[in-house]
Amino acid sequence: MSEVVCVGCGVGIQTEDKEGMGYAPPSALQKEEIICQRCFRLKHYNEVQDVPLTDDDFLKILNEIGNSEGLIVKIVDIFDFNGSWLPGLHRFVGSNPILLIGNKVDLLPKSVKHSKMIHWMKHEASQLGLKPVDVQLVSAAKGVGVEEAIRAIEKYRNGKDVYVVGCTNVGKSTFINRIIKQVSGEQDVITTSHFPGTTLDMIQIPLDEEESLIDTPGIINHHQMAHFVDKQDLKIITPKKEIKPRTFQLNPEQTLFFGGLSRFDFLKGERQPFTAYFSNELTIHRTKLEKADDLYKNHAGELLQPPRMDDMDTFPELVKHEFKVKEAKTDIVFSGLGWITVNEPGASVAAHVPKGVSVFLRKSLI
Ligand code: GDP
Repeated sequence: MSEVVCVGCGVGIQTEDKEGMGYAPPSALQKEEIICQRCFRLKHYNEVQDVPLTDDDFLKILNEIGNSEGLIVKIVDIFDFNGSWLPGLHRFVGSNPILLIGNKVDLLPKSVKHSKMIHWMKHEASQLGLKPVDVQLVSAAKGVGVEEAIRAIEKYRNGKDVYVVGCTNVGKSTFINRIIKQVSGEQDVITTSHFPGTTLDMIQIPLDEEESLIDTPGIINHHQMAHFVDKQDLKIITPKKEIKPRTFQLNPEQTLFFGGLSRFDFLKGERQPFTAYFSNELTIHRTKLEKADDLYKNHAGELLQPPRMDDMDTFPELVKHEFKVKEAKTDIVFSGLGWITVNEPGASVAAHVPKGVSVFLRKSLI
């Protein structure tokens, strides 16, 4: 069975373990082009399915890349920069150059300057120990910036292989399919050979006679908000269109709930506007701080959703992080969900996020 691979993602096909990597129903084996259940769902129902890639496998992939020569293209979701960061990559890459690509730029409100976003990404990368040769923004879905990215890949790969790495859900497959389309004129499906000499389901796509673009499996980052909600809810929290900022004039001791997933408290300060950048489909609920705990206790899963009632028992508890905002125009970022811009200095605020999900401050992008 091991030679049969999915034409979508390159994983070895198996027919026994329905939850496992590369599952396809036995009937699918009759077909000429076999596609695993995960790719099938993604393609036809637009549903994500986690690939159970263990942290051990991740290390093996990193080692494999570290021992090879080539350009590493690291893709992050600019809406989940920290959640989609692959920690530790810089320790393994050796002297290989890294091109950092921020995907989903189509979702940024028009008011966000791309140059500011790139500047911020460079700064963050450097804080996290990574020195990319270049940073670019793309929309793999819309094709924005993809040509520039291809040119950069050509420039920095220096005639060598290209390894594309990224967490699940950053849009790595969409990006690679785009490149294939643009480079070869082919549509949709990745038709390639399995990466030789490894069981790690890397697939290679020929770039020229000798060198290839190598797609590595998506790494699951357990801190991503995306892993705490079910697939339907993921559609609600994942922005599909340009985000429309929503501004709230708040008095101190007022609270905003983002569905039941996170919460923002304005604790102390002058009455002022706060601008929320979240998926347009996510309901924002305003209440008094003194009522917020009870509201969550009694209505999370119904009035405050997602998550839904059924998922409440597995949804992590919300953890409170307090901040004193020192500078005007500061973003409070709820990793994987969105951010709030605090316009004036001096406010004391709190962000409540599911345990494990990060929240941090940055200079406003706008
Ligand atoms: P992978 O797990 O990294 O391979 O990610 P996919 O390519 O499957 O994409 C994950 C999700 O992000 C899908 O719902 C895509 O439709 C969406 N997506 C990918 N690229 C973009 C993009 O440029 N913009 C937007 N808005 N969504 C994108």
